[in-house]
Amino acid sequence: MEYVKFFEELNKGDIAIAGGKGANLGELTQAGIPVPPGFVITAATYEQFMEETEISDEVMDILNALDVNNNKELQEASRKIKKIIIETPIPKDISTIIIEAYNALCHRIGIEDVYVAVRSSATAEDLPEASFAGQQETYLNIRGASDVVKYVQKCWASLFESRAIFYREENNFDHSKVYIAVVIQEMVEAEKAGVMFTVHPSTGEEKILIEGAWGLGEAVVSGTVTPDTCWVDKKTGEILEYQVSEKNIMFKKDPEAGKTVKVPVPDDMKNKKVLSTSEIAKLAEMGKKIQEHYDFPQDTEWAIEGGRIFMLQSRPVTTLGKIAGEETGEKSSKETERIIITKGLGASPGMASGMVKIIRNTDELDKIEEGDILVTVMTTPDMVPAMKRANGIITDEGGVTCHAAIVSRELGIPCVVGTGDASKILEENSVVTIDGNKGLVYEGKIIEESPQKEESAETTTIVQQSILTVTEVKVNVSMPEAAKKAAATGADGVGLLRTEHMMLTTGVHPKKFIREGEEDQLIKLLVENILKVADTFYPKPVWYRTLDAPTDEFKSLKGGEDEPYEHNPMLGWRGIRRELDEPEILKAEFKAIKKLHEQGYTNIGIMLPLVQHPDELRQAKKIAREVGLKPQKNIEFGIMVETPAAALVIEDFIKEGLDFVSFGTNDLTQYTLAIDRNNENVADLYSEGHPAVLKLIERVIIECNKAGVKTSICGQAGSMPNIVEKLVELGITSVSANTDAVQTVREVVARVEKKLLLKAARKIMQE
Ligand code: PEP
Ligand code: MG
Repeated sequence: MEYVKFFEELNKGDIAIAGGKGANLGELTQAGIPVPPGFVITAATYEQFMEETEISDEVMDILNALDVNNNKELQEASRKIKKIIIETPIPKDISTIIIEAYNALCHRIGIEDVYVAVRSSATAEDLPEASFAGQQETYLNIRGASDVVKYVQKCWASLFESRAIFYREENNFDHSKVYIAVVIQEMVEAEKAGVMFTVHPSTGEEKILIEGAWGLGEAVVSGTVTPDTCWVDKKTGEILEYQVSEKNIMFKKDPEAGKTVKVPVPDDMKNKKVLSTSEIAKLAEMGKKIQEHYDFPQDTEWAIEGGRIFMLQSRPVTTLGKIAGEETGEKSSKETERIIITKGLGASPGMASGMVKIIRNTDELDKIEEGDILVTVMTTPDMVPAMKRANGIITDEGGVTCHAAIVSRELGIPCVVGTGDASKILEENSVVTIDGNKGLVYEGKIIEESPQKEESAETTTIVQQSILTVTEVKVNVSMPEAAKKAAATGADGVGLLRTEHMMLTTGVHPKKFIREGEEDQLIKLLVENILKVADTFYPKPVWYRTLDAPTDEFKSLKGGEDEPYEHNPMLGWRGIRRELDEPEILKAEFKAIKKLHEQGYTNIGIMLPLVQHPDELRQAKKIAREVGLKPQKNIEFGIMVETPAAALVIEDFIKEGLDFVSFGTNDLTQYTLAIDRNNENVADLYSEGHPAVLKLIERVIIECNKAGVKTSICGQAGSMPNIVEKLVELGITSVSANTDAVQTVREVVARVEKKLLLKAARKIMQE
């Protein structure tokens, strides 16, 4: 068996031993194409390692016990197997072979401890239909024999990335029969680098496409920069088009640390043309030669160092004949195609690009850096600080009113929810673009610049132009720190101040405060947070909605261990029903409001969530009185209409006494249509405009108008122009929208009001 092969000894037929990448580099070397020298640790070496160390059985046992459709299990199995492979010492006979090959390479180049790139070369990875079979790990700027050995092991372990395991299971590949080779190749310290397609990558026209940027090629391949693009006529060699892009980032070797670092491009090079005419000509010539050699259009990677051109990789163009935007999992030119990796629901508008960071549990939140794309099964309140750093958010679960959707809209961050699989199929550190309108996730960076995240919630100063409307247009606030931004819309007040964020981001279950005799702490926390909003909006009304978190959101909090497990938390112990069972928390909320009232913040009103019987309203008012508040006398008191029950017996609530109602259409829709709002499987049936929902709303508005009780809406439907139109026609008192929708809603309201006025005037004139 051959454990190591230098490029000169390999050709394209050697995929089984050297993997696609290794065989290709051998083929190019043999064809006289300038390739940086190197060798391949063959698939046989991996096989030998697994056998000699006897870890193969251990790995297979883990895989045999695995249910790949259980994401948690899948991640755990992947983690365990990778750990075993990385931590099992390589038998001496194998490590010696690797070390000797590396030393031979250094000797040949004439540099001691030469810097190399270590790349996985899975034996099936370059076959288009198997592109998920193996992860394409690349480690750059590795130096010294022991590090090379270490990174070879990491490449081996990459065969068991969760995504690769999943793919093989789905396609019935035998894990024990999949091998991986590793390419070790001298690092080219590229001053410029990029990719080249020897034909138009989607139409197959005889045009060469070259993309280039400063520094190492990673910047172009990963989509971190928008490269210069150049089209060359393959027959004549004429440059048909050269487009210079602004290149802000480059990868290069940090000479001190010896690692690859991402650095800003010096200002005078950002908009400078990367490729000279003669370099373009040489590259195009090389492209032609490679295609002739393979007798098939090629997708290559090139680099230029000290004026010398190197080819780093070549493989067949796999995108030919595919329609732009078609669903495929393959790599292609960013300029000509948009490849959709996954789809979900557009939950917060806007486009954003960034590096994927998959959050599987909350202790991983630190890895989210400014500008990343946070990918997770479903966000929780403790993820909010990390969500604020992200450029975009993608979740597996959820509908457009789930936690991720609500928070990202408030933060002004594009968000796609309910993809079903994003956390399984997206690759950590890969670059994606999300479209929060259409609910799409694209491969690579396909927008010029991620739109600058709107100024932070705390600092926005833009005040939207105000249009006077009879129907008040208010705004929803879920995070007190976003109050200024919300107020900048010129809204007529806060139609919904959610308390879940302020209570749950402490990381401590509110009951724990009470149990440990620290009610004062809880009250203080509430006072501080509510004050931020009440003060910002003063004297406009702010309706504080009492706690309404489902049990699953409490579970991860300190003190939340005893939260009951509920099959469907949406139908469970939440909202006013729970608060009446555990009145200590409700009391603490009322006490906080009382304190603020005493300080003059009489603009705060109280709103009860999820009521279904007037008794609940009566009991809550009693508790409010016990702490010294006077519902309907010195403080506005109302309910959310979120259950069909409340809508159907609204007359009884009116009799019990209340100042206002507000439609919580997120819940009202789920309970009327029997559709769990967080279940992506039924999200397509979820519709606030369903006639049954509208009928319930209509009857409540009619009854409330008769009784002089104010009506409002604070569910997502209050941000939807078509529904707002109907509500205004029905005579709703106010509409509360998300910050980003206030201006549009105000325009819709103004237009409908004008229409109604005209209609009334015409009617009078006719009479
Ligand atoms: C609603 O149900 O419409 C609502 C506004 O409340 P939440 O989304 O917090 O349940
Ligand atoms: Mg609700």
